[in-house]
Amino acid sequence: MRRRQRRIALLALPALVAGVLVTTGPAGADPTGSTAAAGSGRSQLENQEQARLVPIKLAGADMLDKVVAAGFDIEHGLKRVPTGIEGEAVVTAEQVAELKAMGVEVLGDDVAFEWSDEADGGIQGAAARTVQPASHEATVRIARADWFTTKGQGFLYVEARTTEGQQADPIVEMQLENDSGKRTSFGFARTMSRFVDSGQYMFHRNLFKLDARPNQIRVTSSTGGVTTGVVSDWLEDAPPPLTENRGYKSDFVDGYRHPQQLYSRAKEIARQYPDIAEIVYLPNQTNGYQRKAQATIGGTGQAAVVVSSAAWGHEGGNDVTVEFVDRPGADLPLAAEVAGKAVRVLLAKDASGALASTATEAADALRTQSQGLIDRSHPYRTNAGTGIVAPTAGPVALTDSLDQKRVGAPEGEVPRGPVTIPVLRIGKHRDGKKPGVLIQAQDHAREWVPATTSLESAERLVHNYRSDRETKNIVDNTDVFFILSNNPDGANYSFYNFASQRKNMTNHCPDATADPAQRNSWGVDLNRNYRVGSGHDGYAGGSTNCVSGTYQGPEELSEPESKNIIWLVEKYSNIKFMMSVHSNGGQLFWQPGAYIADGRITTPRPPLGDEAFYWQSASRILGQVKAHRETVVTPENVGGSSDVLYSSAGNVREDLYYTYGIYAFGWEVGGSVYNPATGNWQGGSFQPVWEGDPNLVSGHAETMEYANGITEMFRVAADWGKDKKDPTSKLVPGNGKYRGPVDVRFETNEPATIYYTTDGSRPTLQSPRYAATEFREPGQVFHVTETTTFNWFSVDSAGNIEKNYDPTKNDKRNNYRTATIKIDKR
Ligand SMILES: [Zn+2]
Repeated sequence: MRRRQRRIALLALPALVAGVLVTTGPAGADPTGSTAAAGSGRSQLENQEQARLVPIKLAGADMLDKVVAAGFDIEHGLKRVPTGIEGEAVVTAEQVAELKAMGVEVLGDDVAFEWSDEADGGIQGAAARTVQPASHEATVRIARADWFTTKGQGFLYVEARTTEGQQADPIVEMQLENDSGKRTSFGFARTMSRFVDSGQYMFHRNLFKLDARPNQIRVTSSTGGVTTGVVSDWLEDAPPPLTENRGYKSDFVDGYRHPQQLYSRAKEIARQYPDIAEIVYLPNQTNGYQRKAQATIGGTGQAAVVVSSAAWGHEGGNDVTVEFVDRPGADLPLAAEVAGKAVRVLLAKDASGALASTATEAADALRTQSQGLIDRSHPYRTNAGTGIVAPTAGPVALTDSLDQKRVGAPEGEVPRGPVTIPVLRIGKHRDGKKPGVLIQAQDHAREWVPATTSLESAERLVHNYRSDRETKNIVDNTDVFFILSNNPDGANYSFYNFASQRKNMTNHCPDATADPAQRNSWGVDLNRNYRVGSGHDGYAGGSTNCVSGTYQGPEELSEPESKNIIWLVEKYSNIKFMMSVHSNGGQLFWQPGAYIADGRITTPRPPLGDEAFYWQSASRILGQVKAHRETVVTPENVGGSSDVLYSSAGNVREDLYYTYGIYAFGWEVGGSVYNPATGNWQGGSFQPVWEGDPNLVSGHAETMEYANGITEMFRVAADWGKDKKDPTSKLVPGNGKYRGPVDVRFETNEPATIYYTTDGSRPTLQSPRYAATEFREPGQVFHVTETTTFNWFSVDSAGNIEKNYDPTKNDKRNNYRTATIKIDKR
C-alpha cells in the first residue's frame, strides 16, 4: 500500500516536454541513385559486406545526432574524451568520405585517445601554469573524487564544476591537485578537461594513473575559485562473489549462442526445474527472419527497375523469375505474360523497331500484370524512371538473399518466419508477491555477449538453488524474467548473414531506400521504439530515417518486440527492476537517458532517493563484476546515460521508469579492460573472440564477470523486497538558535527522498522534493537568514515512509519530522 503511494509520487514528476518536431537529413548511403547496380542481389550483397569498423571521433553530441540522423551506424562503444566523443562506425569506404565531409575525424587504430598522464596535459605541462588560489569557494564544487585500482594500477577520477563553466570568453580553466595520503601536501597540478555537450557546460573532469591513494584533492579555477574534497573509494573492497562459495557451480556457457539455442535451452531449463522455473510466451510474434525476394534489373540509373515478390522469399518469392524480353518487330505494345512463377515483360517497340518501355512503365506492368507474383516494383531510389529499359539476358531469379551464409556462420538452417519469444521465469514463489527482475538481452542483434551473460546467470540460479544458501535466498525471494534475446530475427541475420546487424528485420522503407542494396540497413532500432522521451516527441538520438542505425520506427511501439516488453511489465506488475543488457562499452546507465537537443532539456531527473539508490545498486553490481578479474567500470561511465554519454530517444529504460516506476538500468557489458603490459585500456567489441587472453577482451571472460553483476542485481532486488524498515533523516544542523545566517541540509541513513515545507504546513507528496545541488552532486544547501520551520518526511527506495507517516491523509498524528532554525539577529 505504501509502495502504491510512492508510485503516485513518481508519476507526479513534471510532464515531459513534447511536441517538438525532429528534422532529419537525407538517407545516408547513396540516396541519389545515380549508379544503380543491374543484375541479381548477389553482387550487391558483396558490395554491402565491405562495410567495416572504422574508429572515429566526433566533436560532441550535436555532431553525433546529425551523423546518426543521416543514417550512419555508430552506436555503442562510444566513449567521451576531453575533446569530444570517440567510437566506431560500421561503414563502407564511400561512407567514410561522407563522414569526413560532415566534420567527423577518422582515426587510425593507433591514435585513439587513451586516458593517461600524457594525454591529459601531463604533470610537467600543467605545473607551469599559474592559477591564483582565492577564497570564494562558491565558484567551484567537487562532484566526485573516486579512487580505484585495477590489475595493480591505481587511478583517480575527478569531476568538478565551476559556476562560470558556461562562460566562453575566456573559457574558465580548472586545475586539479592531489595529496599523497593523510597529512601530505597538495601537488602534482594538472589541467582538467572541460566537458561540454549540446552547447551546455557539464563539468570538468580527469582520470589518471596514480601510484598512491590520495586523501584529498584541491581544485582551483582560473577565475580564482578554490575548493578541496575528500577522495572516496570506487569498487574497492567488494565482497567475494558467489562463484567463490564452496561447491558453487558456474561457467556453463561455452560459446556464443544463436536465438534457437538460447530458446531451446530456456525451455529445457523449465522442464528440468519445474519447481522453480517456467516459460512465459510473449504474445506478439516477431515479424520474422524473412524477406521479400528482389532484384534490380533493366539497366542503371533512370533505366533501373527494382522488383520485389509479393510472397516472402521462403514462401515462393525465391522461385519467381522476371525477364525483360526484346521481341522482333516494330510498333509493339508493352505486355506481360506469366507461366507458373516466370514473369515475362514483353517490352514495347516504337515505329522504327527501337525498344520503347521506360523503367516506370515496365515497373507498372510488373505490378499490374504479374498475376499477383510481384506487388512492389518501381524505379531505382529517387529516380523518375525515364530511361528505356534493356532486355535481360534471360530470366532473372528473385532472391531474399537469406540463403547466402557469411563465412564462419554456425551450421544448420535458420527457421524462417515469425517467432514467438519465450521468457524464462525463475523463482520459487511466482505468485506476483516477490519483486520481479526483468533481464532483457540483445535488443541489438550484433550484441552476442549480453545473451550469453544472461544465459549464464540463469544457469547459475537453477544449478545452485539446492546447494548454495545465497542462491536459494535469491530464488526464494525474487521473480526473475529472462528474455535471452529480444531480437531473434536480427540476431539470426547477425549470425548467418551480416555480422554487424543492429536492428530487427522489419522493412519500413519507402521506394527510395527499398532496393536490395539497402537491405543491410533496414529495420527498427528496438531501443528507440518506446514512448517516453521519444524521437517522436522531439528527443535526440532516434532517427526518422529508415536506413539509420537508430531508426525509431514509424510510430512509438510499432514493433512486436517492444510491444511485448510493455505487455510483460503490465501483466507482471511485480516487476520492479529491469536490466537492458547491451554491449559494448563498459557503462552502467539509468535516467535521464534522453534530452531535447535545443537547450539540452532532459527527461525529469529521478528524485534524490532514487538517484542514491541507483548509485548504491550500481556499486554493488559493478563490485561483483570487478571481483572476477578486476575489470573496473569507471565512475565516468556510470549515471544518467544522457549525462555521461549521449541522448537515446525512446529507449526502454525511460518508458519503464517513468511509466511504471521500475528501476531500469542499461548496461553496456564488455568495455575497456586495463592492460598492465601496455599501460593502456584495450577497447571491447561486439563479438570478441570467445576464448581470448583471459585478462583482456574475451567473450568468455566477459560472460563470466558480467553474470556476477546480474546475480548481484538479483540480490539487490531480494534485499529491496525484504526492506520493511523505515528510513530516518535529519536536518543538519538541527533545531536551535543561531547567531546570524546558517547553511542547512538534509541527511538520510539510506537512499531516500525527502518532501518538505518551510511555511509551517504538513508535508505531502506534492510538497517540494529535496533536490541535488546539480546533477551528479549531493543534496542542496539552504541558506537560512530568517527563523524557519522545516516540516518533512523521507521515503526510501522500497516505499517505506519515515515514522510510518501517511502523507496522503490528514490524520491526527501528524508524525512527520520537524525542526526550527531560529535566527537570533540581535
Ligand atoms: Zn545495444
